[in-house]
Amino acid sequence: MPGQASFLTSEASPPERSWRLDLAAEYIAAQFRRAGLEPAGDDGYFQTAKSSLSGRDMKSFELKLANGAGVLAVGAEQATFGFQISGVQLWALDAEPTLAGAGLVKAVFKDGASLDSFTREQLQGKVVMTEFPTFPRGDRARGFQLLGAENEFMAKAHALGVPLVIAFDRESARGRGAGSVRLVDPESKGRQSPLGDKPTAPLLFVHGTQGAQFFDALPAGMGPATVTFRAPSRIETPVSLRNVAGLLRGSDPLLRDTYVLVSAHYDHLGVRDNCAEGDCVFNGANDDGSGTVAVVEIASALSALNPRPKRSILFITFFGEELGLVGSRFYGRNPLVPLSKTVAQVNMEQVGRTDDSEGAQVGRAALTGFDYSTLGALFERAGEASGVVVYKHPTNSDAFFGRSDNQALADVGVPAHTFGVAFEFPDYHAVGDHWEKIDYANMERVIRTVALGTLMIAEDPQAPRWNEANPKTAKYVEAWKKLQGK
Ligand SMILES: [Zn+2]
Repeated sequence: MPGQASFLTSEASPPERSWRLDLAAEYIAAQFRRAGLEPAGDDGYFQTAKSSLSGRDMKSFELKLANGAGVLAVGAEQATFGFQISGVQLWALDAEPTLAGAGLVKAVFKDGASLDSFTREQLQGKVVMTEFPTFPRGDRARGFQLLGAENEFMAKAHALGVPLVIAFDRESARGRGAGSVRLVDPESKGRQSPLGDKPTAPLLFVHGTQGAQFFDALPAGMGPATVTFRAPSRIETPVSLRNVAGLLRGSDPLLRDTYVLVSAHYDHLGVRDNCAEGDCVFNGANDDGSGTVAVVEIASALSALNPRPKRSILFITFFGEELGLVGSRFYGRNPLVPLSKTVAQVNMEQVGRTDDSEGAQVGRAALTGFDYSTLGALFERAGEASGVVVYKHPTNSDAFFGRSDNQALADVGVPAHTFGVAFEFPDYHAVGDHWEKIDYANMERVIRTVALGTLMIAEDPQAPRWNEANPKTAKYVEAWKKLQGK
C-alpha cells in the first residue's frame, strides 16, 4: 500500500521547484540519441504535457482546540490533510471551511456505521473528532477493508453536514502537511477514488501526544469544546511534464508503418514530505529504474541489428505512473504514432529485484494478463530460447494488469502487457528501494527475453491479437475493433 509521498522537492517554493524528473528525462534522451533512435516527441525526444500542480501553503494554516481548561494550538508540522493511495487523494480539502469556535463532537470509530446514531441536527456545522486504528502494514486485504470503513465514516460525516473531521494519530509525532502537491490533469476529470464516488468530509490528522491527550480528555459525544480553524490557502503552479520517446524505424516496406511500443515509467515517489532526518529520497531502483534501464538497453541492442527489425519500434518512458498512469494516459490521448497501427505494447515494471515476498524469482518473469492476448504464448517461446521461464502468476497476473502503464494503451485497444519479476518485495514504495538490491545477472537475462520477444513481434507479419475467448478482454476487444474501424 503506497504511503504518502511527493515526487517533488519540498524545500523550494513552487516557482523554483527543481524537477529531479527533468534530470532523468535528459539522461534517457541522451541514451536514446546514443542508440541512434530518431527523436519522436514534439520537442526532440520529449513529448510535453502542459499541466499544473495544485498544492497548499501551510503557512496560512491555523488550528486551535479549546476544552474549557485551556487551548491547544496545533502547529502545521503536526498536521496532515487527507490520505493518499496510489496517487489518489482521499478525503481532500476541497472547500475552504473557516471555523471560529465551532462545536466539537467526539465519536468513537468502530466501523463504517459509527456515526449512524447521530442526527443531522446534532452534527450540522460541528467538527467530528475521532481516532482510526493503526494501518496494518503489509496486509493489503485488511488495509483496503479498513480504508473502506473509514471512507464510509467520512461519507456519513459529509451527509450529516460535518465541515471537518479531525483524527488523532498518536503513533507519529510529525505530519505531512497539506499532502502531496497534486498534478492537475487538464484533459481528464481527475482520478476516481478506488473506494467509490460518494462525497466525503475533509479529514485532518493531528499527530503527536499533545493532540492525543486532548482527545483522551474529551468526553464522548457532544461536549463544551470548540475548534478554530483556518484552511491553508491554495497554490497552483503551471508545469511541463515529459514523456521521452525515440523511434527505431522499421526496415520492411510493408511493415515499417506499423509499431511496437516498448515502455516503462521513469518517475517514482520523489522526496518524502516534511522529512527531517534519515533517508528522505525514494530512489525507486526497482520501481521503475529497472524498467527504464531495460527500455534503454533494448533500444541499444535492437538498433544495432542489420537489417533493422521489420516493424518500427517506439521506445518510450512515461512520467507520472505513480500518480495514476498520468503520462501513459496522456500518450493514449496524444499518440506519437497512429494507435491503429500500433500492434502491441511491451511494458516493464520491477524487472530488477528477485527477492519477491513469495520467494526468490530467479530465471522467471511474469507477464500481466498472460492469456489476455497472443503475447503470453509468444513471450513464453522467447523465454524458452533465452532460458527464462515466462509464466502466468495464478492471482497476480490478472490482478496487476491494471496496475501499470499497459492499462492506458489496453483501454484504447492495443494489446498491451507488463513484464515483472517481483510483484511485491520488501522495499516496495519505501526509501530502501536501492540499486544494490537489484539482481543484475538475472535482470540481464530477463531483458534479453523481452528484447527477443519484441523482435519476434516486429518480425512477424501477423500482428498480436486479444484473446476473445477470455471474457476479461471484452472491453479491450471492443476498443480494438473501434480502433480498427471494424
Ligand atoms: Zn512502478
